[in-house]
Amino acid sequence: MYENLLANVPTDLWIGGKWCKSSDNQRFDVIDPATEKVIASVASATVEDAKRAVDAAQEAFPAWAAKKPRERAEILRKAFEIIMRDAERFAKLITLENGKALSDSRGEIAYAAEFFRWYAEEAVRNIGHISMAPATGARIVAQHKPAGIAVLVTPWNFPAAMATRKIGPALAAGCPVVLKPASDTPLTMLALMPALEEAGVPPGVVNVVPSRRSGPVVSAMLHDPRVRVLSFTGSTEVGRKLLHEAADNIIKPSMELGGNAPFIVFEDADIDAAVDGAMIAKMRNMGEACTAANRFYVHDKVHDEFAKKLTGKMAALKVGNGLDDGVSVGPLVNKEGRDKVIELVDDAVAKGAKVLTGGKTPTGPGYFYPATVITNVSNDAKMLNEEIFGPVASIQTFKTEDEAITRANDTEYGLVAYLYTKDLSRGMRVSEKLDFGMIGLNRGLVSDPAAPFGGTKQSGLGREGAQEGMKEFQETQYVSVIW
Ligand code: NAD
Repeated sequence: MYENLLANVPTDLWIGGKWCKSSDNQRFDVIDPATEKVIASVASATVEDAKRAVDAAQEAFPAWAAKKPRERAEILRKAFEIIMRDAERFAKLITLENGKALSDSRGEIAYAAEFFRWYAEEAVRNIGHISMAPATGARIVAQHKPAGIAVLVTPWNFPAAMATRKIGPALAAGCPVVLKPASDTPLTMLALMPALEEAGVPPGVVNVVPSRRSGPVVSAMLHDPRVRVLSFTGSTEVGRKLLHEAADNIIKPSMELGGNAPFIVFEDADIDAAVDGAMIAKMRNMGEACTAANRFYVHDKVHDEFAKKLTGKMAALKVGNGLDDGVSVGPLVNKEGRDKVIELVDDAVAKGAKVLTGGKTPTGPGYFYPATVITNVSNDAKMLNEEIFGPVASIQTFKTEDEAITRANDTEYGLVAYLYTKDLSRGMRVSEKLDFGMIGLNRGLVSDPAAPFGGTKQSGLGREGAQEGMKEFQETQYVSVIW
């Protein structure tokens, strides 16, 4: 049915501006999670291929770094335009390999392209500073230079945006990159390579090495002295491992890791607005987002109204193949992901939680799970400490502001928190007490290429997007001079 879409999608490695097989000719299957059918077979990079990709990046580095900022900016801007021109094709491909509803994929591709537009604008604002050393009167001339070859490792939940959020600033800063996309969803980034080539990205500046052998392939690159940046988005568990590896060569790390977002609804909140925000914070990507609201804390005076309205909206969502009209809940990405959701809901229910809607796994094929609301969740339920990564809203109640803050902060993660109140001073007071890198204050969505995205505690190191995002790919050099 979607053969046309797949017919022109590349499935080999993209190294030095050329498509090539893996050195041992191994390949791996990509599955459509809605049908469980194999939709493509992709080359699986070896350690040797990874080295070739770093060679290509090294060759491209001097000329790319030497380009005028405006030239790099124009290429990034063109990339934005070309991706938007072909947005529908890319969106369908995302849905095909990831499962998410087409409306989510359209949102993702626009978000992904926007990182190229934003960093086209940032590439020309690479501003350093000059000052005078207080004691000697020498001038301090500080400027930001490209840090070097960057290895990018990305997850499956946003196959396009998590990669462009890194490629945009890296290229703006003058760094070449080698990208290892997630094995569940390698097609989207491979399909984007001709778009970057058409935009004028020179051979070797962006290389893509999908692999089923992520561990050795990424490790080999992190132990290559030419690699100077690791930008990783994925689980805290894998991030921790890669941080250890990056330590061997003192590689600059940028880590976007897991989350466990609280969503607090105070008694003075606009409940309809809170429910609308909850639908976005929970259901964008069917809950398969690091920013997904994982724990709803609702004041006990408004719990019943909030739960009823949220349940009504969740129950109305259509489950099905993400490519079909009207579907807003596609399948989860794979069997393990769906099994984890089932396990977490069963655990909560066994500990006394009440299911208000959903909670029943449909028969296959496809890794479907319905939009689910559960309340009365006990404090020892596993889902309060782990990422659910599925369309399940779990609700608990609270009585005081301090209690809400304490419970929201009671996690090793610190990516994003959401809160709803009509009292802006309370909103700001509580925001400052929440130990999270991002706060959605009366908003269910914080992602924006112009904003510094990232977390505290075990949710990561560094920021992506905004001006901060480019710094992750730069070293500051200062010249001490007396003139
Ligand atoms: P994952 O950690 O399993 O995989 C991420 C990437 O690392 C993939 O490309 C994978 O192939 C690779 N990888 C896995 N094991 C590796 C190893 N031993 N060595 C080198 N590379 C390895 O994560 P995932 O399941 O793809 O994505 C979901 C996770 O990503 C969730 O925890 C989610 O919260 C997180 N995430 C975070 C952000 C953020 O911005 N903070 C955004 C999206 C997703």
